[in-house]
Amino acid sequence: MARSKKQSYKDFEKKNIVILGAGFAGVRAALDLDNLLRHHDEYEIILIDKKDYQVYNSALYEAATTEHSLVEAKKVKKTVAIPLSDIFRNTRVKVFKAYVDSVDVDSGMVVTDSRIINYTYLVLALGSTADFFGITSLEKYGFTLKNVEDAVMIRNRVEDIVTKKDSARLVIGGGGFAGAEFAGELHNLIKHECIHHNKKCENFEIMVVEGSTAMISSLPENVSKMIGDRLSGMGLKLKFSTLITEAGPNFVVLNKTEKLDCDLLVWTGGVKAARTPGNPDLERDRKDRIVITDNMNIKKYPNIFVAGDNTGFLDPQTKKPIAQTAQEAIRHGNLVAKNIFRAIMEKPLHPYQVGNSKYIIPLAGKYAIFYSKNLVIHGFLGWVIRRAADLRYFLSILPFSKALKHWLFETEIFMKND
Ligand SMILES: Cc1cc2nc3c(=O)[nH]c(=O)nc-3n(C[C@H](O)[C@H](O)[C@H](O)COP(=O)(O)OP(=O)(O)OC[C@H]3O[C@@H](n4cnc5c(N)ncnc54)[C@H](O)[C@@H]3O)c2cc1C
Repeated sequence: MARSKKQSYKDFEKKNIVILGAGFAGVRAALDLDNLLRHHDEYEIILIDKKDYQVYNSALYEAATTEHSLVEAKKVKKTVAIPLSDIFRNTRVKVFKAYVDSVDVDSGMVVTDSRIINYTYLVLALGSTADFFGITSLEKYGFTLKNVEDAVMIRNRVEDIVTKKDSARLVIGGGGFAGAEFAGELHNLIKHECIHHNKKCENFEIMVVEGSTAMISSLPENVSKMIGDRLSGMGLKLKFSTLITEAGPNFVVLNKTEKLDCDLLVWTGGVKAARTPGNPDLERDRKDRIVITDNMNIKKYPNIFVAGDNTGFLDPQTKKPIAQTAQEAIRHGNLVAKNIFRAIMEKPLHPYQVGNSKYIIPLAGKYAIFYSKNLVIHGFLGWVIRRAADLRYFLSILPFSKALKHWLFETEIFMKND
């Protein structure tokens, strides 16, 4: 078996805390553990990801809609990829760029494509993947928007369509957060590409197909309506209570009956948790989220904690799974770090408290809707709040000058389409 050829990372003097996934949850957990364990050299903090950067997902829709002639692909990547070496420069977190092949929960071992690592504590924070609801043609022909490569491919495809065609239909499957944000910015991109290539913008239709009765239907009705009005006011076609039931190289089928020509299909209609590699025997819900205790660890394996989109945790009030968002993932990472520290100190663990979520939904140009429990702000001020939230996040993970530099660079690139 290949395993024996792999280098084993086993320092007998130290105990390993291994974090799988350098997304919002994993990065937060690693930074907080580094801080909490500063006087505990007997612990090694190891963060493993297949990439050597964190993807700032919240801005992927912007990256996918930067105009070709204005921004080169290398710069697009820089806007949403934050190097892990910058984040962990002044810490003792060891970052391994490796693909996790399997996790052996019984012997406490992580097998990657380059080494085997034993752990005393493990954090599972591998994020999520697109859910195609078993429709294989959708998986084959739909573009997803989950990483930097997706963003670059989508923008190349849009450029290709506008260059070669005089009219086209671009379909976005799913009117949730990602679908709504992407739709608005795609409209701007099409507008700019049409001007650049001397095409008629009104001949390029953007259609959002959504299964429920409104855009981002998890938000209160008035906010959903505001989002729908903004997009339809820009000329986008919104189809509610409609499912994409089949896709092909140049068509989509709606509700099993209506076949439409389609030049680009972007699927943002659902996510499910990324499966833990090696499929260890862990209890999961129907979206593959791992069932955890109030303290965010697994009942059968209390030294394994779960954070971010991997987490299957029911809100005690609504009895619904907690949202799969970056802000939740950051909260999880923070609590998981605290609880690992408390377990080491042999103190009782803290339970997870569902927080009051705030949402910012950017909808093309310098416009965004900010929503929290009792407050809705929309328009330019919403956009300013969004820019401030981005800066706040970068400051929370990067040294001041790097955070500011990244934010200014991102702002400059993303404003080119506005
Ligand atoms: C387009 C888009 C827009 C979004 N916008 C927002 C927003 O505006 N606000 C908001 O709150 N949320 C937003 N979200 C949701 C948010 O990004 C996720 O909820 C969040 O990223 C979850 O964090 P995580 O740490 O669980 O996973 P992720 O951030 O996805 O990180 C998981 C990490 O695991 C790594 N990984 C996975 N499998 C392996 C493996 N086998 N080996 C090695 N490494 C592996 C991946 O490379 C990745 O770095 C958006 C998501 C998308 C896709």
